[in-house]
Amino acid sequence: SEERSLNFIEEIIEQDLAKGRHTSILTRFPPEPNGYLHMGHASSICLNFGVAKKYGGKTNLRFDDTNPVTEDTEYVDSIKEDIQWLGFQWEKELYASDYFETLYQYAVRLINKGLAYVDDSTSEEIAEQKGTPTQPGRRNRFAERSIEENLQLFEEMRAGKYKDGEKVLRAKIDMESSNMLMRDPLLYRIRHVHHHRTGDKWCIYPMYDFAHGQSDSIEGITHSICTMEFVPHREVYDWLIEKLEIFPSRQYEFARRNLTYTVMSKRKLLQLVNNKIVAGWDDPRMPTISGMRRRGYTPKSIRDFCDRIGIGKRDNSVDLGLLEHFVREDLNKTAVRRMVVFDPVKVVISNYPDGEVEMLQAENNPEEETITYREVPFCKELYIEREDFMENPPKKYFRLAPGQMVRLKYAYIIQCDSIVKDEQGAIKEIHCSYLPESKSGADTSGVRPKGTLHWVSIAHAVSAELRMYDRLFTEEDMDNVPGEYTDYLNPDSLKIIPNAYAEPALKEAKLGEGYQFLRKGYFALDKDGDADHLVFNRAVGLKDSWAK
Ligand code: ATP
Ligand code: MG
Ligand code: MG
Repeated sequence: SEERSLNFIEEIIEQDLAKGRHTSILTRFPPEPNGYLHMGHASSICLNFGVAKKYGGKTNLRFDDTNPVTEDTEYVDSIKEDIQWLGFQWEKELYASDYFETLYQYAVRLINKGLAYVDDSTSEEIAEQKGTPTQPGRRNRFAERSIEENLQLFEEMRAGKYKDGEKVLRAKIDMESSNMLMRDPLLYRIRHVHHHRTGDKWCIYPMYDFAHGQSDSIEGITHSICTMEFVPHREVYDWLIEKLEIFPSRQYEFARRNLTYTVMSKRKLLQLVNNKIVAGWDDPRMPTISGMRRRGYTPKSIRDFCDRIGIGKRDNSVDLGLLEHFVREDLNKTAVRRMVVFDPVKVVISNYPDGEVEMLQAENNPEEETITYREVPFCKELYIEREDFMENPPKKYFRLAPGQMVRLKYAYIIQCDSIVKDEQGAIKEIHCSYLPESKSGADTSGVRPKGTLHWVSIAHAVSAELRMYDRLFTEEDMDNVPGEYTDYLNPDSLKIIPNAYAEPALKEAKLGEGYQFLRKGYFALDKDGDADHLVFNRAVGLKDSWAK
């Protein structure tokens, strides 16, 4: 891959290593298991795993499962599968919920230092007392509680003595700080709910600010990389680490990455799934990693894309066309070539012997270092694309037309002699003759037709359903559209070709492998089909509109 300059995280790491601030690097990827991973997560994964790998470090996978209500083990499993598929392996699989006891002890430590208190106010009162960005907040009488009273009340909170919302634990920082998050932030709240891992053991749960940095510190994370919306949290992050006197992890922020013509929040993606607008989290139109995998995108294309867009400080949307460019670039190297006729018209080779079948050697992929071959049957009756024939062609039409010659890929040169029409006047059959001395690889005919067509033998073809995808939404910048985002769904995001004809080698198609259907695009086998009914998803078309 081409050399690029260091990104700002890499610069920080190089300085930290040079100054001896760290001798080894440990990052983490911290998904909340409340949905499937999407392209934005992929860029965070590539960054976290990428920089650690580059500097000989490691990366933990930490499930940020401190919010008991929205989380599920189905999500945990999908997240692990997606990260590994992208090509990364974590050092440790960890759960923030495993730190609940340690976090509780940290809270007790703060109380003992007079730096945390139990507050009985309602959330409305707390919000009101917080003030506004231009007006300082004020403390209430609960902040005056003694250390002993706070210790006892906090223990009772844990023991389940109080109802949801009755009490919270707050840090005692600064009600006049210009940073609203520093105005005595909540550390714990009471929630009598079941947690997907800790069950009913806990009825108090730590807030993000009292879980994330502490988890980083417990694990010895050196560089905790998150997205820009956490910039104001950094002051709380640093304050808590300092007061708790624990390992000094540091937080660094980079901008969220979005893609054009799609939405990238788990909440919206979940709505699309629940409202059956798409077939599931892995619907090939979804910007989820599982959707992209099913569609036929490759891990390398996603990694290359993330590497190319790099990281920045300002949120932005990246052109979907650039992602498709990398998909095409990788599939061009790795996808085997196959022939599939989408909209058939019959060709009869009049001078080819009845009943004879010739097995032609056809190269799998001209980009391969060592070329391998498959066999393609050729015989008297074939299908070509209806659009590859014109009865009255314009000038410079190089496909099949009366009296005109074309090459059939891997096979022979044919010439159209006559056509047969049905009662409605539609073309039923095209009668051709072939040049026996024009066989591909051994052509002595001296004829050089300009057009080459793909085709299949009718008797050997297998039927296939093709799912042709387009962008899910009609607007480029879906983060800034008026009204509901669902008003902008593209009604043509899926078109189905129910009965295409594929060359028989495609019976051996495997899930997870890419195929280039000659002159048509890149496709991937879909799990919906079976041996008798092949289903393929179009990953991307052949034409690259992306100017490098
Ligand atoms: P969403 O808003 O889609 O729910 P999230 O940030 O709540 O995203 P998490 O599961 O908490 O989702 O994310 C795990 C990691 O991925 C976090 O470090 C988060 O900052 C990062 N991340 C999430 N979305 C993006 C994005 N669009 N671009 C870059 N990084 C992202
Ligand atoms: Mg999050
Ligand atoms: Mg979220």
